[in-house]
Amino acid sequence: MASKGLVAGRLALVTGAGSGIGRAACQVLSREGATVVAADKNYDAALETIKKHIALASGYSDAGEHSAMEVDVSEPKSVQNLLQAILAEYKVPPKIVVNSAGVTRDNWLLKLSQEDYDSVMNVNLKGTFLIMQTFAKAMTESSIQGSIINISSIVGKYGNIGQTNYSASKAGVVAMTQSAAKELGKFNIRVNAIMPGFIDTPIIKTVPDKVKEQLLKLVPLGRLGDPTEIAEVITFLSSDKSSFINGASIDVTGGY
Ligand code: NAP
Repeated sequence: MASKGLVAGRLALVTGAGSGIGRAACQVLSREGATVVAADKNYDAALETIKKHIALASGYSDAGEHSAMEVDVSEPKSVQNLLQAILAEYKVPPKIVVNSAGVTRDNWLLKLSQEDYDSVMNVNLKGTFLIMQTFAKAMTESSIQGSIINISSIVGKYGNIGQTNYSASKAGVVAMTQSAAKELGKFNIRVNAIMPGFIDTPIIKTVPDKVKEQLLKLVPLGRLGDPTEIAEVITFLSSDKSSFINGASIDVTGGY
C-alpha cells in the first residue's frame, strides 16, 4: 500500500465503480494512497477501472493490490458475498465505503410504472442501506474507525421534472445518512452524503438536450461538473481532514 497521501494505507470499497463518479473516486482515492476495491454490477467495467484507469494511468502494468469485484447492491446475498470476498482477499473490512451505484428510470409522474419506481428505490435507497448495514457491522466487529460516503443528488433537495422516483430515493439517502451517523458515531464511524449537481457521466445521457440546456442556465458556473470534482470531495470525506464532519450532506453543484 502507498505510504503517502490523504488516505494512505486505507482499504476503500467503491460501488458503482465501473463508471462515472465511482470510477473517478477509485482514481482519486488510489492517487491518495488507498487500496481500492472497485465493485460494480458490471464486473468487466470495474476491472477496466482498475486496469486502465488506475494501474495504466499511474504507469503500472498490473493492478497491484487493487481489485475488481462484482456486486448487485440491491441483492442482500450479493452484498454478503462481496463482504466475504473482501475478507478473503484482504483479511479486514474496508475503512472507507463509497456508495456510488445508482440508476435512473425517468418518466412523468403520470406515466411512471411501478416497476421503474421499484427498480430505482431498490438500487439507490435499499442498495445504500444494504451496503451500509453490512459494512458498518463488519467495521464494528473489527473495531475499525471508518468513513462512509453516500452519493445522494441535489434533486433530492429540490426535486426535478421526470424524477419523482429518483428524487425521492436521493432524499431518502440524505435522511438515512443522518440517522446512520447518529447511530454509528459512538463507534467512530462517520457517515456523510454528497449531493452532486449535474455531472458529466453516462447517467445523464438520457436527459434530453433541451432539459440539459435549461438546467445549465441555473448553474452559476455555467457548466456540467466533472466526476473528478465529486471524487475530490469523496476523498476529503474519507480522510482525517474531515474528522469532525459527520451526518452532513454537502452540495457540489457549481452553485445550482
Ligand atoms: P453512472 O456513470 O451510470 O455509474 C453508475 C454505476 O453504477 C454504473 O457502472 C452502473 O452499472 C452501476 N450500477 C447500477 N446498478 C447497480 C447495482 N444494482 N449494483 C451495483 N452497481 C450498479 O452514473 P454516475 O453519474 O457515476 O452516478 C454515480 C452516483 O452519483 C449515482 O448514485 C447517481 O445517482 C449519483 N449522481 C449522479 C449525478 C450526475 O449528474 N451524474 C448527479 C447526482 C447524483 P450499469 O451501467 O451496468 O447500470
